[in-house]
Amino acid sequence: MSQTRYIVSACLAGIACRYDGRANTCPEVQQLVAEGRAIPACPEFLGGLGMPRPPCEIVQGKVVNSNGQDVTQHFLLGAQAATEFAIQQGCTAAILKSRSPSCGYGQIYDGTFGGVLVKGDGIWAALLRQAGIALYSEENLPEDLD
Ligand code: SF4
Repeated sequence: MSQTRYIVSACLAGIACRYDGRANTCPEVQQLVAEGRAIPACPEFLGGLGMPRPPCEIVQGKVVNSNGQDVTQHFLLGAQAATEFAIQQGCTAAILKSRSPSCGYGQIYDGTFGGVLVKGDGIWAALLRQAGIALYSEENLPEDLD
């Protein structure tokens, strides 16, 4: 039986692409990448947002940064590119950074920049879900990683 191929949030693979110029390194995800079973992608970088960049949250369907600028188009373009990449690469599952406005699934921040969580998906997670890709996170890793 062939092994699952994963698309993963690049920051979980140790790439310093977070808004604050840091990574969210997850050893299990790094190992998958090293074994060639996972491919990293950062939709915010692919959407043309620099590093570092102001933090963003989703407010009533739009993505705004902490300076109040609407960056929805960047998020959408990057999420579309990263989703197409995942499909082209034959990925059927994703391991995504929790609570990110791009990568979070099931739970994201409420748009007040006050650390309050609400139900919802980040922009990329929603597209991957629509594409039928199974979603996991660093807090909910797949059981069959060994
Ligand atoms: S967009 Fe996703 S991959 Fe990029 S830094 Fe944020 S959580 Fe990590």
